[in-house]
Amino acid sequence: MEYDFCAKAPLKYSAEVVVTGGGLAGCAAAIAAARNGADTLLVEETGMVGGLATLGYVGPLDATTKRNGESFGGLAEEIVESTRNLTKAYGGPNYYALKVAPEMLRFVLLDMLQKSGVKILFHANLIGVEKSQNEISHVYISTKSGIEVASAKRFIDATGDGDLIAVSGEEFVKGSEPGVFEELSAGNLDKIHYQSGASEKYDAYKSDGLMQPVSVMFSMGNVDCSVAQQYCNRMLTYNDLGITKEEVMKLPYFGTVGFEENGDYIPIPQGRVLIVKFGIDGKFALVNMSRVVGIDGTNAAEKSRAEEIAQMQILYLCDFLIRYVPGFENAYLYTSSHTLGVRETRRLVGKYVLKGRQVINCETFDDGVACGSYGIDIHDPQGKSKAIGGILKGDYYHIPYRCLLPKTIKNLLVAGRCISVDHVAHSSTRIQGTCIMTGQAAGTAAALSVKNNLSFDELNVSELREKLKKDGVIL
Ligand SMILES: Cc1cc2nc3c(=O)[nH]c(=O)nc-3n(C[C@H](O)[C@H](O)[C@H](O)COP(=O)(O)OP(=O)(O)OC[C@H]3O[C@@H](n4cnc5c(N)ncnc54)[C@H](O)[C@@H]3O)c2cc1C
Repeated sequence: MEYDFCAKAPLKYSAEVVVTGGGLAGCAAAIAAARNGADTLLVEETGMVGGLATLGYVGPLDATTKRNGESFGGLAEEIVESTRNLTKAYGGPNYYALKVAPEMLRFVLLDMLQKSGVKILFHANLIGVEKSQNEISHVYISTKSGIEVASAKRFIDATGDGDLIAVSGEEFVKGSEPGVFEELSAGNLDKIHYQSGASEKYDAYKSDGLMQPVSVMFSMGNVDCSVAQQYCNRMLTYNDLGITKEEVMKLPYFGTVGFEENGDYIPIPQGRVLIVKFGIDGKFALVNMSRVVGIDGTNAAEKSRAEEIAQMQILYLCDFLIRYVPGFENAYLYTSSHTLGVRETRRLVGKYVLKGRQVINCETFDDGVACGSYGIDIHDPQGKSKAIGGILKGDYYHIPYRCLLPKTIKNLLVAGRCISVDHVAHSSTRIQGTCIMTGQAAGTAAALSVKNNLSFDELNVSELREKLKKDGVIL
């Protein structure tokens, strides 16, 4: 059964550029657009900016440099440096040395947005668009006051999930697709992380739109990381920890989602111990060990269910680590994610689709407007192996402007996790530094397109590249 829902929606906001989604990509887009002279509105569904990097507690802000360590400059460098400085001033030793402290990043981003003159609308969820002749005229947003309207000349989808792409009717895909094996092989990766021998696992890899698992991050204090790190990135057997299967099976949560039987290996959601040490005294560990498979983060019921499961996994994993993993004996839960960590959902099918092999082989393009340097990192959508991927063949690759550009709508650009790339390439372009770079490119393009009164597909990309370089981006 379906119901019609009609509501009057007042025009409440207008700007030259509307950015939907205030994660790293959206913040970078909004800051770049505003600094380059555009009247900019940022629409964010929660009450905090930073997205997964803050709410999701994803501390490591990777790919802000080439693989040889040279900075990509621009907003990525500015955000990292400002966060480090604020952490030194106010964060105390606990946060120091985590690549970027989520607790500090939220203030840095908010301060940069405010100083750039960006108008921010928190607690506002993009739910629809009005279009005519391949142009969006305004967006509908759901707020505490009801459904309201924001109009603009240019729009940027930085929702991570590609919500604006979807409501605009632009083409998108989700998850794995035919050809994953070919992309990995064509790249001839040095290292493919499998639980066991590679070839039969490749055959088991499904190309049916399954997405990477969802997870929640948390951190623990008073960890003896020098001991605990020996167990990191390992699938542990009962023997490794000197415990029996019978003992583990008595725990109340074993058998729940993520803790099912796993042969000789101890059943924990990621299959392995996965921690990042932080804190000046090395006593804190960021834990990335929860996992729920088979979830579509754009399906409301599935996302909600995954949130329930993953949040309880935090408690269960703490219990497991403290009981059994050396180095965690005296540890305690320190901080935890406030939202489900969704790795993969919609990807735009734009003017150009960047392929996995081009990422692996570090291809560059005349219209490259952002760079990536992180390896291929696909958390197995079926949850059977650890992760699939490997290191790039060069120092960095380009993301062409065309990967931000939809095929039909003329005043829409896409930034961050949902740009136009294939499943293999996405596992690298989804990384946080790269999301900032595509955000800065999209925001700068939006400001230039308003200023020069050109649609996004008419924009002079050489001029955009020059502007980005002038703003400190190393392309
Ligand atoms: C468990 C996990 C571990 C990870 N580990 C790493 C790592 O070690 N290193 C690394 O660099 N990266 C890592 N990543 C990847 C990285 O965190 C994300 O891909 C990246 O942060 C995405 O940035 P984004 O700005 O595109 O999207 P998001 O951070 O998801 O931001 C999207 C924003 O849009 C808002 N939004 C969504 N829909 C709407 C709507 N309809 N209306 C209004 N607002 C909306 C959201 O609230 C959010 O603030 C990890 C990801 C996960 C899940």
